[in-house]
Amino acid sequence: MAASSSNKSWNNSMFTNGHEVGSRAKPSSRDSELRQGQNSTLQKKVNGFKKQAQSHHTTLDLLEGEVKAFLIDEDELHTFDDLTKVNPVTSTTVLKCLHARYSADVFYTHAGCTLVAVNPFKHVPCLYSLEVMKEYHVDPQPQELKPHVFILAERAYRNVQGQVEPVNQSLIVSGESGAGKTWTSRCLMKYYATVAASSSSQKCQDMIERIERRVLESNPVMEAFGNARTLRNNNSSRFGKYIQLQLNRSQQLVGASIQTYLLEKTRVTCQATSERNFHIFYQIMKGATEQERLQWKLPGEAQFCWLPNADQKLEEDCFEVTKDAMLHLGITSRMQRQIFRILAGLLHLGNIQFSAPANESQPCELDTQSKGFLQTMAVLLKVPQEEVLAQLLVRTIRAGRQQQVFMKPCSQTECGMRRDCLAKVIYAKVFDWLVTFINGSICANSSRWSNFIGLLDVYGFESFVLNNLEQLCINYANEKLQQHFVAHYLKAQQEEYAAEGLEWSFVSYQDNQSCLDLIEGSPTSIFSLLNEECRLNRLFDAKQFKTRLEKALSSNACLSWDKFKECPHFIVSHYAGTVSYQIEGMMEKNKDPVPLELIQLLQKSQDSLLQDLFVEQKEQNDNRGQSKVITVVSKFKSSLESLMHILHSTTPHYTRCIKPNSDCRPMTFKKEEVITQLEACGIVETINISAAGFPLRLPYQSFMDRYGLIQNPQQLYPVSGVNGASPAKKKRGLGAVEAGEDALGSAVRDIINVATSGQAVSST
Ligand code: ADP
Ligand code: MG
Repeated sequence: MAASSSNKSWNNSMFTNGHEVGSRAKPSSRDSELRQGQNSTLQKKVNGFKKQAQSHHTTLDLLEGEVKAFLIDEDELHTFDDLTKVNPVTSTTVLKCLHARYSADVFYTHAGCTLVAVNPFKHVPCLYSLEVMKEYHVDPQPQELKPHVFILAERAYRNVQGQVEPVNQSLIVSGESGAGKTWTSRCLMKYYATVAASSSSQKCQDMIERIERRVLESNPVMEAFGNARTLRNNNSSRFGKYIQLQLNRSQQLVGASIQTYLLEKTRVTCQATSERNFHIFYQIMKGATEQERLQWKLPGEAQFCWLPNADQKLEEDCFEVTKDAMLHLGITSRMQRQIFRILAGLLHLGNIQFSAPANESQPCELDTQSKGFLQTMAVLLKVPQEEVLAQLLVRTIRAGRQQQVFMKPCSQTECGMRRDCLAKVIYAKVFDWLVTFINGSICANSSRWSNFIGLLDVYGFESFVLNNLEQLCINYANEKLQQHFVAHYLKAQQEEYAAEGLEWSFVSYQDNQSCLDLIEGSPTSIFSLLNEECRLNRLFDAKQFKTRLEKALSSNACLSWDKFKECPHFIVSHYAGTVSYQIEGMMEKNKDPVPLELIQLLQKSQDSLLQDLFVEQKEQNDNRGQSKVITVVSKFKSSLESLMHILHSTTPHYTRCIKPNSDCRPMTFKKEEVITQLEACGIVETINISAAGFPLRLPYQSFMDRYGLIQNPQQLYPVSGVNGASPAKKKRGLGAVEAGEDALGSAVRDIINVATSGQAVSST
């Protein structure tokens, strides 16, 4: 059954001592707006319960939240800890409230069942200190605790024990690039590493300290290899991450496991203007010792094509921090040197340029400088130089039933593509190896942990001037998460209320199913058509593909075209905005082919790590003997599906990070930018449903165990039935509330106290 906190929900409003809810308020335009039906659901409930409330003694303080909403003037907007108290709830009032709080240096605000975190873009003293953690880690949590991501963290921590049985939890952090997702995830990890670390025995303490430290140390390593400076964020995560913090039965952190999604490996070879490659390359360049420079052939004055904007100084460029963290994770100095040598090899590879031959039937040529880079690269990767050159310049074609082999000189563009392909496949393998190694170092044996708290930090919604398959995948992931949110909070709750027979006026919300159908649906969608192109393995014609899309999918309202745009493209109306995707290159990116010869070349490396990374694998063939292509979108779709499966099996807690300005400036709140983000995540709908709804639910049995007494106040012990309630309602515990006896007042107040003090309440 549902019970409410001190928000605008019906059982707050039950006991009014005969006062009209708004009667003590100064008449204001906002009051009249309310009376005119701006919040008619609440008004109806209030009126209904006023009648019931005549006989009840004072509980006006229960209505504090509501009364405040009418009394408070705009100067006090910053005091609203929960956006459900803002009245009326519109994008404008919500924006005003967040702005007022931001100006007052308050960055967290509840929005009903979610938390809004506005990025301060500055160090806020004591916001995440040990003392603050302790303050939030008390049982029960005092009501006056200010909104904070630690409230969610603590709620999840308590819920994981569950009232009936343990329930895994997920903290889902969303928001656009630079909004603060990774920062928030880091804070959450630190919180758990602190509060879940208590242990009595010193030996155990040492062990636990080590594991906590290792879990935390995974962050700088993953960020060094997976984050980069972009136009939107100096430390932008170029991969998605779901980390499961493993807890034992005593609620102690005993390990963790990390799952990553879709590393943007193209960044190794191609960086947009003013953007950078992954941090680790700059860290090596800036932080290597003289001796290491010599070993890795990186003289101070060296210029590398794949290392743009190397003169920018970023706090992320700290090699020592990465090396220390790697060491703690068990990556020895020897192994580290091996990795850094390979990465230095990639920088040299990037400097190899090809010039077109005079005669097309001849291979391309290298100038003297490029020959030098080739030589160094071959030394660093420990691969035969001549063979590298041959594989970069000439491609092998297998044709016919017998798979006859032909050699064909590559064009200048093709040579460049093969060079880039080599670098990308190596970097992606190194990254995957790191994740596997880290998991090996922090993951607890399954017998040691019973439950987990998952932290999800995936790349935010992206829309650039030019968008391609990477953005389509990223935005698709965001659509999936939005759907999860909608399904969990906006849809399921309302359906449950309807099923429980509660008076409820349906709050409409934006359902993004048709957008998902367009992208991933079956039998026909953008993904399925792209995969078909890969399967057919024919020359990809972007214009023809556009025509195919038009024919097959134009009935979907989320798909459109810009009449004035010449290059083949399609526009998708995402929940967070419309994005135009260019079709050129999409098929190639989806196929992401790695020529077999390049893999075979790397298998010949004398370097043990490269050998491990490219260990010979049995090729997956289809029944015609052709190499099976698992496309990028298929892989991504299936990894997202398993993520969604995990998320659905957990209790989610949502944090919506908001970026107050696109220049990442402290204390700058650009209303237009914020409102777009608020609208995109459906904040008003969320608040409306939370405000009018029941943020807490208790299983019937728990309710009866605790409050069964109210059915018959004379009885000292809980009773098993509720008079007057239908069997269906009894099952859901509704009858108890409908009994409406005197004792109910204190029972409901009790629930509200439980709710507002943040005590764990399990869901039905
Ligand atoms: P996202 O992961 O959403 O792309 P980040 O978490 O990397 O964004 O945040 C971008 C930057 O914003 C951080 O590098 C940091 O400078 C700043 N930032 C984010 N959250 C906070 C915070 N709570 N306090 C101070 N600075 C923050
Ligand atoms: Mg990030």
